Amino acid sequence: MTQRVGIIGWPLTTTFSPAMHNAAFQALGMDWVYDKMAIPPDIARLGVLEPQRHGYVGINVTIPHKEEVMRHIVPDKLAQAVGAVNTIDFRTMTGTNTDVGGFITDLAANGVELTGKRVLVLGAGGAARAAVVGLTGAGASVMVVNRSIERARAMVANLSLSNLMMKADALTLDEAVESGDIDLIVNSTPAGMFPNLDESPWVYGVPFPQDVTVYDMIYRPAQTRLMQQAEEHGGRGIGGLGMLVYQGAAAFKLWTGVEPPIEVMFEAARQELQSQ
Ligand code: NAP
Repeated sequence: MTQRVGIIGWPLTTTFSPAMHNAAFQALGMDWVYDKMAIPPDIARLGVLEPQRHGYVGINVTIPHKEEVMRHIVPDKLAQAVGAVNTIDFRTMTGTNTDVGGFITDLAANGVELTGKRVLVLGAGGAARAAVVGLTGAGASVMVVNRSIERARAMVANLSLSNLMMKADALTLDEAVESGDIDLIVNSTPAGMFPNLDESPWVYGVPFPQDVTVYDMIYRPAQTRLMQQAEEHGGRGIGGLGMLVYQGAAAFKLWTGVEPPIEVMFEAARQELQSQ
């Protein structure tokens, strides 16, 4: 019998997940299908319960349901720390967050060391929370900068409550730059995302660090203005496509128990990107 998984979100117009997972199932000759289910914000509960009732093995969850679904399943420790679930297993009615692992795995795949490093995270939304949990868990010391500093302070305070060992502070961009050398900058804001190609989250007039690595969670375009700024200052830019692929690969492994064909998933994601 065909096994079904899928994704819920709204408006869910540009998700790469169906292409990535279906390409992986096909490559491995598995009788599995990944469906796309556009679920409006007011019926998040049905977005969880209906696929379960119809025998789905699990689902991915994306904007705007990642927080709301936590009320309908049991979130694991990681999802609780991040405050968001992006992958549900209906066999156990549990939820986890594979964005954290996807992000950390892609940094490792790109040879970026984290232990003892000083990392600047730009943004204070869901993706920034996943980044801070992953980075501090990997032994980095983290500075969070957000255009509304109050939101950054609230995020760090909330995360610290769930992990007392966490090394993270909320600062202004000036304070972060003046505080010492920065090894890695992570962009967890949409600034620079298509179609705003000239936009950068780096505040104009603040000196850009030399020889720094930028990890931009944005994957459209493949090269953002912020990544260019890093290269102009002797550094390196890494785009967010790998994070997307590795978070999907982790969900694939969880549902199927099978090792995901990473290259097949990468290729499907690249093709989706080109066809946009
Ligand atoms: P979110 O919850 O809406 O948070 C967005 C954050 O960016 C907020 O802190 C917001 O600041 C800030 N921001 C928004 N526009 C800005 C601008 N023009 N300049 C500076 N800061 C700005 O969004 P999210 O879910 O965290 O996602 C953030 C980004 O990560 C998106 O681009 C998303 O596509 C990307 N992402 C990528 C992956 C991947 O797999 N590669 C996974 C998850 C997310 P305020 O608090 O002041 O509003």
